[in-house]
Amino acid sequence: MAAESDCMRLCPEKQKLWQDRICASKVPAKWVLAAISSFAPPSFAANERKYSFLGDASNYTITSEYDYIVVGGGTAGCPLAATLSQKFRVLLLERGGLPYGNENITRLERFLINLNDTSGPYRPAEKFVSEDGVVNARARVLGGGSCLNAGFYTRASPKYVGSAGWDGKLVNQSYQWVERAVAFAPELQKFQSAVRDGLLEVGVTPYNGQTYDHIPGTKIGGSIFDNNGNRHSAADLLEYSNPNTITVLLYATVQYVLLRSEGNRPRAYGVVYKDSQGVEHTATLKTVELGSEVILSAGALGTPQLLMLSGIGPAAHLKSLNIPVRLDLPGVGEGMSDNPMNYLLVPSPQPVETSHIKVVGITRFGSFVECGSAGSDGLLLQKVIGPLSNGNLLLRSRDPLALPIVRFNYFSVQADLDRCVQGMRTIEKVVLSRSFAAFRFDNQSSFGWQGYRRRPNRHM
Ligand SMILES: Cc1cc2nc3c(=O)[nH]c(=O)nc-3n(C[C@H](O)[C@H](O)[C@H](O)COP(=O)(O)OP(=O)(O)OC[C@H]3O[C@@H](n4cnc5c(N)ncnc54)[C@H](O)[C@@H]3O)c2cc1C
Repeated sequence: MAAESDCMRLCPEKQKLWQDRICASKVPAKWVLAAISSFAPPSFAANERKYSFLGDASNYTITSEYDYIVVGGGTAGCPLAATLSQKFRVLLLERGGLPYGNENITRLERFLINLNDTSGPYRPAEKFVSEDGVVNARARVLGGGSCLNAGFYTRASPKYVGSAGWDGKLVNQSYQWVERAVAFAPELQKFQSAVRDGLLEVGVTPYNGQTYDHIPGTKIGGSIFDNNGNRHSAADLLEYSNPNTITVLLYATVQYVLLRSEGNRPRAYGVVYKDSQGVEHTATLKTVELGSEVILSAGALGTPQLLMLSGIGPAAHLKSLNIPVRLDLPGVGEGMSDNPMNYLLVPSPQPVETSHIKVVGITRFGSFVECGSAGSDGLLLQKVIGPLSNGNLLLRSRDPLALPIVRFNYFSVQADLDRCVQGMRTIEKVVLSRSFAAFRFDNQSSFGWQGYRRRPNRHM
């Protein structure tokens, strides 16, 4: 894994500048202080009350009136709960607070401040370091990762939809439903336009114009940031809910799923959650027989964590923590992967716009090439599409608040490394292209940029 020193080896001033802007661990102290002072404590009243069906878990007593209990109000959980509420009674439990009224979340220029906010137990970004030594973050807020992420919006490729076994027609209908609320076509300025033209010049073709579709070539993608820099997260999709049939509780941390035995397999009939005062509550399904379900949408880390806390997972591991085994499922926690990102910082002779990812080159060798810009620097980055390297997740303890132990084994499969190398070579060609000439110094050789940092992370 690349160490911090790789980043600092060349162009120290510029690297420092971008570290301040980009690296989650390096935001200047004054920004962090600004973030702390502007972040309201987790008092529900302090936030804008956006929906009538939303409340603080400590003010509610929930019993057994729901057809579905959805755990985790993130990118998947919010639209799922809204959809189910059209026909069923739904309870959505989210451990974090509201995104509304928190400018660290809603404003584009505060993207990094949000990722580095350390203002208390309910801050929206819960940082963790994987066993590989890479800093990462998971969400803890209504809207989930869509309140932390870089906001690039794309549809899945038809191949992905097919391999997931989804109904293509339904998927296409859902895209329109989602896009009406949260997807925007970005306006390009000079720097992003130069990268687009450079990608085409070096052969990442064809040009697909502005599209949400995932097609090989170069395109202008979509963003959940509108052109005024306001973020529109998955929490906005709750607008589609039926307010008479949905309840959304915040600061509700699910501890485990309640299971009862049915033949050889356990069946979920409810959950136990704690509110912000540490008071335990139980919510159960109205009836299990009619197909009611507890749905875990607690994220890539939270979902296997909750399954294990409930006694579903590798038996030996559960026993080592004195968790009664309800189902020995060795696959729980396996196959954890994260897409490694590398970037090249390119000092520009002229000021560049502040921009997030708008243009993307989808190569045929399995890398995305994207860019961002701020001040007098451009940043071209490369990510591996669907990394083959993977690792696993284990519980650290029986405490649902404890971060699990995660290992991604970045680059353990050679093909991932090869795709990174090809991606970085493409970036180098783009920087040297005619289209990009106005944004590089004439006297700077590509050798001077080789201080790029292998940084498997998701910070953009
Ligand atoms: C820094 C960063 C940048 C990214 N950039 C992009 C991008 O530009 N484009 C893109 O498409 N993707 C991006 N991603 C990835 C994307 O955000 C995630 O893939 C997506 O949000 C995952 O959705 P999810 O619903 O599975 O999980 P999440 O959105 O994480 O939702 C899980 C929710 O469950 C809640 N939860 C967890 N445990 C419990 C519990 N015990 N009780 C109650 N609630 C619980 C969490 O608080 C959270 O709100 C980025 C991610 C990060 C971190």
